[in-house]
Amino acid sequence: MPGPRPLSSILKVTPYIPGRDIDGGWKLASNENPLGCSPLAREAIIEATRRAAIYPDGSAYDLRRAIGKKHSIDEDRIICGAGSDEIFQFLGRGYLETGDEIIQTEHGFLVYSIVAQQSGATTIKAPETNLQANVDAILSCLTPNTKIVFLANPNNPTGSYLPWNEIERLHKAIPENVLLVLDEAYFEYVEQSDYQSGLKLAESTSNVLVTRTFSKAYGLASLRLGWAYSSNEIIDALHRTRGPFNLTSPTLAAGIAAIADEQFLSESVQFNNSQLQKLKKAVSRIGFTVYPSVGNFVLVDLGVQERATLADNFLRKNGISVRAMGAYGLPSCLRISIGLEEANEAVVRNLEEFAKTL
Ligand code: PMP
Repeated sequence: MPGPRPLSSILKVTPYIPGRDIDGGWKLASNENPLGCSPLAREAIIEATRRAAIYPDGSAYDLRRAIGKKHSIDEDRIICGAGSDEIFQFLGRGYLETGDEIIQTEHGFLVYSIVAQQSGATTIKAPETNLQANVDAILSCLTPNTKIVFLANPNNPTGSYLPWNEIERLHKAIPENVLLVLDEAYFEYVEQSDYQSGLKLAESTSNVLVTRTFSKAYGLASLRLGWAYSSNEIIDALHRTRGPFNLTSPTLAAGIAAIADEQFLSESVQFNNSQLQKLKKAVSRIGFTVYPSVGNFVLVDLGVQERATLADNFLRKNGISVRAMGAYGLPSCLRISIGLEEANEAVVRNLEEFAKTL
């Protein structure tokens, strides 16, 4: 007798392949914060382990209050998850079923389509223009089956963003029964004056949800902490999809402490943005195309897939792990996260050496 059979839709889910670690080398493959996390957060984590025998606060009340205060938003309209990844899972459980469609951009973050697959929904990919989201292309993908439009702003792995007037135009043209998810995982790094968060739009409308994460500028990727802001109705629905204790006490405590440490956050952003400019200039000086990025990573185009694979192997052999981009439909590209200065210099040195082999 055969064993229990999973749903056939689940067997079709494309597994997510994370960035590879590298022993004794530089891991620049997962857009992590090279400065680590706030020392206050680290202390809070250790302190919280004293209560390891006690269940955490399933409502994440203190953390939601801290987030609400920082961003001047209503704590009752915030939900916290194990990374923004878990928020996307909530959305899949709450809003998607077989026959539904989601829209994401051509080179958008992969987890959205994985979430769709997990619910038996279909992903429609809207073409981008020069690796930037194209509002008209997104709108022309809308059908009566569209349930969610996912847009990472800025996007990973392209590093591009949509200015605020384009987000407004997108939202105005989307039917009210379709949810617009603005994934702002890299929000903290963006300094461009035409960029704006969607929090106010989520505040004043009934079909916008904004996600944020503690994994990037706050440097807490291992603890898994993200949050979303939306209407009371949507947040209420999402709470019903989550486990009762989805976040650990050390995670909750770390989030609260990290929010209080504004100095660490601003140092992280300043460090990233100056290293980003330096790395971009140095890599393009070697002769490789570097796309303009406002995140904590750069996308480098080696021209053809074969050369990207050779460069990836060359870097790995010399102790640097970066991310190959085949899964994102960019097989000729490598995504390189901003690391410590020494790591970024090692990247440049190695790419210079690699260029000589061509
Ligand atoms: N959104 C985007 C655009 C990302 O790049 C990432 C992480 N790579 C996430 C969401 C997920 O972040 P986390 O689950 O760690 O909050």
